[in-house]
Amino acid sequence: MDNDMNVLDFGLDDAKVIKSQGIERFKQEKSGHTDRISIICFKTFSEVVIAAKTREKGAPLTDEEKTELVKKIDAKLAENLKKSVSDLTEIDRLDIKQPRFSFAYTHYKDGVGTIRCLGQWQGNTLVKPGLCCKHMGDAGQTVATVVMRYPVDEKGQVDSDLLKKRRYTHVEIYRMSAKKFKQIESVYIDARANDMPVIDMKVTLDGDPKYQKQRIENGLSAFWAREDTDPEIRAWVLDQGLRAYKHVKRELGFQMSAEKLAEKLGGSAASAAALSSGEAAAAAPKLQPSYDDLLS
Ligand SMILES: [Zn+2]
Repeated sequence: MDNDMNVLDFGLDDAKVIKSQGIERFKQEKSGHTDRISIICFKTFSEVVIAAKTREKGAPLTDEEKTELVKKIDAKLAENLKKSVSDLTEIDRLDIKQPRFSFAYTHYKDGVGTIRCLGQWQGNTLVKPGLCCKHMGDAGQTVATVVMRYPVDEKGQVDSDLLKKRRYTHVEIYRMSAKKFKQIESVYIDARANDMPVIDMKVTLDGDPKYQKQRIENGLSAFWAREDTDPEIRAWVLDQGLRAYKHVKRELGFQMSAEKLAEKLGGSAASAAALSSGEAAAAAPKLQPSYDDLLS
């Protein structure tokens, strides 16, 4: 029927062929319920060092300077891990003291949802406002990262057997406002001051799930990163973080075209016009009463 080998037809009865590649969002459903989570994606040592050197220099590093730094860092990592540079993995290069986040400028409106700002930004400055900025108020910042939600016992302690089997263990995107990010940042600042660079967090839903208002506390040294935790679990967690990170961008607001947004903001007037234009008045589809009829 079709020459394209990569395209396969299917119906709802054989929809099993479709596997969800998506990733859930970390969301709490019961007020007062506490989850134990850990941020599991990280910057690489090279990124951290290059950022520090850039701050020091007060200007972007040249490509040569960057290459030189990466080479030095790789050599040192290889030496510390007793490996050759060519055997270093992506995981070896992660600095687990440096959680990774992404953010984008967004607007929110009931009925439209969270959309990516269409204006042009240079750092923190809006250089050219978009339609959204004119009609939806000032843009806010939406931040996201990847977290692992642990399996826990009744006391809220990590159930290490379940974690070992990866059961009730969830890798999710944690999307948040700038305000919530600041809460997390302050938990990390306190933890670092107390010599706990890699932590879990205890997150408790405070009130109506609709608002996802949360109390965020230091859950002390991250269970997955402790020295007595199976190294295989540690590697699995870091691998999950690397894989999940590619979904983070998509969670930073829906990217709507300017035309579509204009239509949305046009509101009821625009949709009423579309209805009267006849599209909706077209004849209702004729459904066959049963499949037997088709065969008789
Ligand atoms: Zn905007």
